[in-house]
Amino acid sequence: MRRRALALAVGGTALGSAVWGGAAWSSRLPLAPPIVVEAAFDTRLDTLRRDEPVAAIFIRRGVPRADVQRVLNAAPQLDPRRVRAGRVFDFRYPLGASQPDRVATRLDDERFLRVVRGTDGAWRGDIERVGWQAVQHSVVGTIGSSLYDALHRMLPDTVLPPGEVDRFIADLADDVFGSEIDFSRDVLAGDGYGLVFERLTSSMGDVRYGRLLAARIDTRGTDNRAYVVTGEGGRNRYYDERGISLRRAFKKSPVAYLRISSRFSAKRYHPVLGTWRAHRGTDFSARSGTEITATGGGVVRMAGRNGGYGLMVAIRHPGKEVVETRYAHMSRLGKGIRTGTRVEQGRVIGYVGASGLANGPHVHYEFIKKGRQINPQAADLGDGTPLPDEQRGEYVALRNRLAPLLAPPVPRQVAAGSNARAVPH
Ligand SMILES: [Zn+2]
Repeated sequence: MRRRALALAVGGTALGSAVWGGAAWSSRLPLAPPIVVEAAFDTRLDTLRRDEPVAAIFIRRGVPRADVQRVLNAAPQLDPRRVRAGRVFDFRYPLGASQPDRVATRLDDERFLRVVRGTDGAWRGDIERVGWQAVQHSVVGTIGSSLYDALHRMLPDTVLPPGEVDRFIADLADDVFGSEIDFSRDVLAGDGYGLVFERLTSSMGDVRYGRLLAARIDTRGTDNRAYVVTGEGGRNRYYDERGISLRRAFKKSPVAYLRISSRFSAKRYHPVLGTWRAHRGTDFSARSGTEITATGGGVVRMAGRNGGYGLMVAIRHPGKEVVETRYAHMSRLGKGIRTGTRVEQGRVIGYVGASGLANGPHVHYEFIKKGRQINPQAADLGDGTPLPDEQRGEYVALRNRLAPLLAPPVPRQVAAGSNARAVPH
């Protein structure tokens, strides 16, 4: 009898987990003690309402009237006249207290303001730097209906907030590949992509998209690639696999891809054939009022009404050969756009409409070289400049490190083995 009792005692205590294993484990373990959170504080978030002065939210949340000005004095970074509705304040209360002993708010992406009441009753403010940490992520996939949908599916809220996914898409489609690919037309279902990007997380727990580091987009068998080189002042420039800049004299589309795709998903505008005898241009459908941007820099030759074109802008672009671009069916002109206005690439020259002969809101876009209309999708949009020598080393290292993560399509390697293209080393 004694032996048996001893064995039980040993099994239940000292030997513990070292002996138990497998299924028996859970049923024989003692219940875990309940988790006790020993919070000394209670916090409440509140949002500044419309037309409400900052003092009002403080008073509503229990800051004594006599202390309101003291809190503000301790926070010179917070100008009460400039604080907008929607700002979130975080009030902290010692347990059981109705008066907060700390008022905090996020000033911007990088700074957090805290005003704390000391034991002497005085309020003191300090700024906490929000630290951001970059973690590299990569995604590889195949496009279904559109790149827009593919990326929103591939990057759920848990990876990047939706607004940040949109920033990512705008970077990719308009800044990085804006001269190479018209994402609303050139990228089809079944085309592959590989993307390497930075995801930033802050010490406050928020998540942001950082930089696109490398990208591969296939357009019907063409392998388009981009690698970042970040210069002084944090400017990101993108180069193809040969080290040639992806910036060109012209962009493919006068409407940001994000604006096109975030409207009514994959539906396309089909011009009614017959209303235009010779349709020599490309139609970009977008919601009425969407910004139309100059695809290249130049001088406005005309801005106004022009028959079937409706309200339109024509821009002359200087260069080896004079190019003219035309943007028709606008609802209104961009600010300051008139004949003779000098415009940079990307300047807003007007807004999408359906003026003239148009059966729905869209931009009719023409690219004219030597007086002849050219299919803008096939037009030579200019040469990119090679990478500066001093950045070549950095570029090659990044490219060699990230290329495998872009996971190129499997075959084709045999033919490409001769390394026909000049690759900087
Ligand atoms: Zn058209």
